[in-house]
Amino acid sequence: MKVFKFGGASVKDAPGVKNLVRVLQTVGHSDTLVVVSAMGKTTNALERVIEAYFENIERLNQELVELKEFHLTIVKGLFEEQSAPVAADVHGFFEELHTFLKTNKAPNYSFVYDQVVSYGELLSTTIIHRYFELQGWKSYWLDARECIKTDDYYRAANLDWELTQDLIKTKAKGHQLVITQGFIGSNSNNFTTTLGREGSDYSAAIFAYALNAESVTIWKDVPGVLNGDPRVFKHTELLRQISYREAIELAFYGASVIHPKTLQPLQRKEIPLYVKSFENPEGEGTAVAKGKTLDPLIPCYIVKKDQVLIRLSSIDFSFIVEENISYIFGLLHEYQMPVELIQNSAISFSVCVNNKYKRLDELVLVLRSRFNVEVKEQVDLFTVRHFTDQALESIRNNGKQILLEQRTEETAQFVLS
Ligand code: ADP
Ligand code: ASP
Ligand code: MG
Repeated sequence: MKVFKFGGASVKDAPGVKNLVRVLQTVGHSDTLVVVSAMGKTTNALERVIEAYFENIERLNQELVELKEFHLTIVKGLFEEQSAPVAADVHGFFEELHTFLKTNKAPNYSFVYDQVVSYGELLSTTIIHRYFELQGWKSYWLDARECIKTDDYYRAANLDWELTQDLIKTKAKGHQLVITQGFIGSNSNNFTTTLGREGSDYSAAIFAYALNAESVTIWKDVPGVLNGDPRVFKHTELLRQISYREAIELAFYGASVIHPKTLQPLQRKEIPLYVKSFENPEGEGTAVAKGKTLDPLIPCYIVKKDQVLIRLSSIDFSFIVEENISYIFGLLHEYQMPVELIQNSAISFSVCVNNKYKRLDELVLVLRSRFNVEVKEQVDLFTVRHFTDQALESIRNNGKQILLEQRTEETAQFVLS
């Protein structure tokens, strides 16, 4: 079996869905499981629905109306005069969502979040499944929540691998073409959970692992994995082949083309991952597999914008040693600040963090009781894998101030402001 994943950008409108069908016609669609994300920026729109529900109830209806319109326009573009039954499906999902929001008593933000955002993927896969049927294809719509089983950690749920594997094998069996949702799962009480933003790549890897798939292909709006994000860098080159380890490193440092959790399950079973362009399905793309680190072996650039640099120094010139460091890490964990880079000297300690959950002010307040604290917000963390002297020179000369620099054999990192 082959696993394909199509992200939001590939199905952002009716022509996008038509193109998805063309891709499947070109590369074949028998013995295939297709994982699809929410259409376009639907997950962001659903996040606004949740925000309105908790904080600005007057906006709620407007947000829902706009999102429904967006989906109905796509339905119209695909099914034309045969739209009615699919439009009814869309109305049905929005009815369900309304009912949930009206009757929900749970104050838990993360719980509500997962119940609501999951509609993005339910809507997209339902519309695309119906469009497959219109082509005369026999397609099976699988509710991912029936097989992706997780714990109760809403918004970043952890997988129950044993149970999930068994359920996927049972539910996907006997179908030539399966369409299912990325990103979503359910817990032991059958409440919907999600795997974290951008988690559909990871879903594809989970399905592939359970099915011992021959490969996974993620279809993107880029020719494959490039040696830098083309939205940030002018001249980028296609990486034809990358080892699993290198891909994990690139994803970890922030190359957002692959979700970092995707690689581990694939690597365990040595299932190759292809990253290809949905605009050019017969293009070469990138193969992530066992073997060569990188082909071509060139520097790879990754930028994480809007990070925070915190510099701590001891108030009384005492050393910053194990005890203090473990206290600092304890706080960073408690305040949910992913650590990107650290550097320490005898009496100072610098850490570059991601203020993902907006808890920086709380953290700084606590730190000030024990240290001198300097905070620099909106810094860029710049990483170069397989750097050369020339690559490092170009960073030093790009007009930004270097606040911190660190190097290992393969990786150079800079905090720039
Ligand atoms: P999806 O539609 O699957 O959600 P994403 O938008 O998450 O796709 O990922 C594709 C985007 O990733 C590209 O448009 C590109 O801007 C960005 N990107 C970041 N780093 C890289 C890289 N190294 N190579 C290719 N694309 C990259
Ligand atoms: N729709 C989800 C998101 O936008 C999951 C994904 O696209 O991978 O985060
Ligand atoms: Mg994405």
